[in-house]
Amino acid sequence: MSEVNTPAPDVRDGAEPRDFIREIVAADVAAGKNGGAVVTRFPPEPNGYLHIGHAKAICLDFRVANEFGGHCNLRFDDTNPVKEDVEYVDSIKDDVRWLGFEWDDREYYASDYYEQLYGFAVRLIEKGLAYVDSLNADEIRAHRGTLTEPGKESPFRARPIAENLDLFARMRAGEFPDGAHVLRAKIDMRAPNITMRDPVLYRIRHAHHHRTGGTWCIYPMYDFAHPLSDAIEGVTHSFCTLEYVDHRPLYDWIITHCGTPATPRQYEFARLNLNYTIMSKRKLLQLVEQKHVGGWDDPRMPTISGMRRRGYTAEAIREFCTRVGIAKKENIIDIGLLEHCVREDLNRRAPRAMAVLRPLKLVLTNYPEGHSEQLEMVNHPDQPDAGRRRVPFSREIYIERDDFLEDPPKKFFRLAPGREVRLRSAYLVTCTEVVKNAAGELVELRGTYDPATRGGDAPDGRKVKATLHWVSASHAVDAEVRLYERLFTVEDPDGAAAKASAELTTLLNPASLEVVTGGKVEPSLGTPAAGARYQFERLGYFAADRDSRDGMPVFNRTVSLKDGFKSGTP
Ligand code: ATP
Ligand code: MG
Repeated sequence: MSEVNTPAPDVRDGAEPRDFIREIVAADVAAGKNGGAVVTRFPPEPNGYLHIGHAKAICLDFRVANEFGGHCNLRFDDTNPVKEDVEYVDSIKDDVRWLGFEWDDREYYASDYYEQLYGFAVRLIEKGLAYVDSLNADEIRAHRGTLTEPGKESPFRARPIAENLDLFARMRAGEFPDGAHVLRAKIDMRAPNITMRDPVLYRIRHAHHHRTGGTWCIYPMYDFAHPLSDAIEGVTHSFCTLEYVDHRPLYDWIITHCGTPATPRQYEFARLNLNYTIMSKRKLLQLVEQKHVGGWDDPRMPTISGMRRRGYTAEAIREFCTRVGIAKKENIIDIGLLEHCVREDLNRRAPRAMAVLRPLKLVLTNYPEGHSEQLEMVNHPDQPDAGRRRVPFSREIYIERDDFLEDPPKKFFRLAPGREVRLRSAYLVTCTEVVKNAAGELVELRGTYDPATRGGDAPDGRKVKATLHWVSASHAVDAEVRLYERLFTVEDPDGAAAKASAELTTLLNPASLEVVTGGKVEPSLGTPAAGARYQFERLGYFAADRDSRDGMPVFNRTVSLKDGFKSGTP
């Protein structure tokens, strides 16, 4: 059994709705700006795994480039050696590729530009537009002023150009310890926009870099490296999230004064916020390091790798990003929309199968002992191409413990003593006896089947009110099934933690993972391909986990069948 791969008609890959970003790019192209070229970049810092928020940025960066006949670079913004690692670089590449985007040979690193960036800094110093400041970090902060008060100029601001050049060269040469000096742009300490109050461009960090090793001990700040990296690569449209609106004048200042040949422009869009979810890499790292989750790819994590392991598809994530859209105003998206997209996609592609999570044995006393038969079942009700499979049936069947009640209330239509129900695509069966142990606990059920109902329908047209999933006891394979709930108990974990001055981890949902070890699955699920996705009849969508061992498959519940998402809600 394998997934149905026909692209769904409403996967709108390649035909994105117009938004303000696409309007801007279309106008630039129409006006012949940059010679009509469109070059974008996705610029992750390799200090953590990518999450669903990054997926939104990736879809925007790559798709806009594709839509306008341009290209998108993958650029690692690796300017902070202390927090970065190759493990993150590798995971980011895996995730972007898995999401369906290709950067060909355009894999760039800000660290590859260190020599050029250094040259631009020297040029600023020569123009009298940058200086070496010897205040320490606290003093710099104290001089910066506030939103209502202007900043104060550093006593080192008037250093002669020659002295700045000498000190900056010696910073690079490793003559000074961390924090002894910084290089700052000389802009305006009274600027209403605090970002423009002589921002730091370089700091000293005697640290090993995952790519440049010990070559450098001064590292450029993001605000300096980013616009220049964009310019070096010929990026035309540099998309980032709204926090960077205040940084745009600095971006433009650096491009103007460094005299780069290319003149990229920055545009800001609203970041993705999801309820019940955190998206700060720092906080996600904390969950990993403190072992609140099994790792970055724990299926409860909002990371791309966690979602992939959980069984989400790239198509569903892309569709989600399309539906969220690109706006200029922050909002919070209901995680139900993401689950809705996953459910829709899996409904189309996932083959059906039967699994019983909490088995209860039903012995069919009129079925011949030692006998079994193969029943034909369709793998997908709406996709004939998905084919059929054979599922064994025999005298002893497992049904779901929850599907039986000895003393059923009015609205309970499933199995009960004396009642007839359908076993999916098999037979109508009737429960005739309840077997209990000495303690009075239910041990198994006895019943009969109607041999005339093979396939599940009675020739006399009599109806039953319930259809149950089942597996043949002697053929079933043991399985472990992992059920997931939301990782946090509250809609806004960050906000709630801040309000209560509590650790975020106090808001973790203790019931976010339930491991069901006694599951039984039909034999076709015995050795599933890694990542294979199924709809377990009546239970939800499940994906085979990489922890599966021979003879003991492990499945993650991706999403339940029930869709709580109401279209129209945000
Ligand atoms: P950090 O706090 O480490 O800076 P970051 O989430 O900004 O985290 P980056 O690696 O710098 O991480 O992000 C890469 C790109 O993804 C940036 O362009 C950033 O604007 C974008 N991005 C990050 N988070 C979101 C989000 N929630 N929604 C949309 N885009 C995002
Ligand atoms: Mg960032």
